[in-house]
Amino acid sequence: MKSGVNKRPELKRGNLMAVKIFIAADRLDSVLEKLATKIDLWIPALLKGDKSGPTGFVPYEVGKAPAFDRQTTLPLKKVLLPQEETLLRFEYKKDPEGAPKTTIALDDHREARPTLVFGARSCDVRALTTLDRVFANGPYVDPYYVERRKNTFFATLVCKENDVKCFCSSVGGGPADMEGSHLKIVQVDDGYVVEALTAEAQSLLDGLGDAPDAARDAKAAEMVKEASGRRVGDVDTQGCAEAFRNRFPQTDYWVQMVSQCLSCGVCTYVCPTCYCFSITDEVENLKGERLRSWDSCMFYHYTLEASGHNPRPTKLERYRNRVGHKFSYIPEKYEGLLGCCGCGRCIRSCPVSIDIRQVVGHLKENTNEQ
Ligand code: SF4
Ligand code: SF4
Repeated sequence: MKSGVNKRPELKRGNLMAVKIFIAADRLDSVLEKLATKIDLWIPALLKGDKSGPTGFVPYEVGKAPAFDRQTTLPLKKVLLPQEETLLRFEYKKDPEGAPKTTIALDDHREARPTLVFGARSCDVRALTTLDRVFANGPYVDPYYVERRKNTFFATLVCKENDVKCFCSSVGGGPADMEGSHLKIVQVDDGYVVEALTAEAQSLLDGLGDAPDAARDAKAAEMVKEASGRRVGDVDTQGCAEAFRNRFPQTDYWVQMVSQCLSCGVCTYVCPTCYCFSITDEVENLKGERLRSWDSCMFYHYTLEASGHNPRPTKLERYRNRVGHKFSYIPEKYEGLLGCCGCGRCIRSCPVSIDIRQVVGHLKENTNEQ
């Protein structure tokens, strides 16, 4: 299959009746408070600073105002893949008769509670397609991710307006794309029209509000129509896997693309489809924990081997790997799926303004130049 199209996961849907409610803007707090009694609730919110400060997804607390006005600075992947988590605990138990009989007790108990992310964006939910292929679809299945994934629901906002850095339509998504979402939120003049998209999500709306009146329902439909027809971004990703392979040996091309890179790793931390991690054991006396923490392929030490050899010793190899992973290796391995959802976060957050759209856009241009 040609690269350039993000394949969508199949969703199992039960019998679905159209269930919609209207939440007046001044009732949002009390509705979220009620929702939080039914399920663990996460919302996009300001992380620090004034209104223009960084935003991310946080567990809901009474009085915490949701930040629905723009895409969050940090993606929602940490709901499914925490920045740091304990995979298991262990304890050495010495046998009083001698060291050879020492045993290890392991505790890998995990619990994934039903969780709702209220105010997700379609690009972030689409990004989970990539994480699913890696962590859930084999050949190696990650039980920690899978249990959270099965228990997590997404109430997704239709994007009213996109940022100039967004390019979701270039990678198979769109501002009203609801694939993978369980509830659709449309922001109308004086509140929100929320619609259940799956049978399992209907019960979450019970008792939260009445159906929208005809005028609000029509306004919501009009906004969805406008968003569905809006094309966001114009990056040509067709054939990018092949183009990347042709570009791979062209050192000058990559030097030009990456010369300013600081190897800071910000692009990977804000990226909803990046999932590099490291595993470490923290031990004290005879007890310890095995931890998994986010890592970054943009760091020198990520690929440093115990022998001292490093297969990606400079930023050139590391940045080329990042682009190749998203636009060539993943599509080739997973039948055309792209490893990028077009959220634009890496472009917004890069301190030296490296723009992945330009790098990908240029892959096919003048491929004979050295
Ligand atoms: S955010 Fe920019 S400077 Fe930092 S590692 Fe990524 S590309 Fe390089
Ligand atoms: S590579 Fe950049 S634009 Fe693509 S998903 Fe990651 S952060 Fe978003």
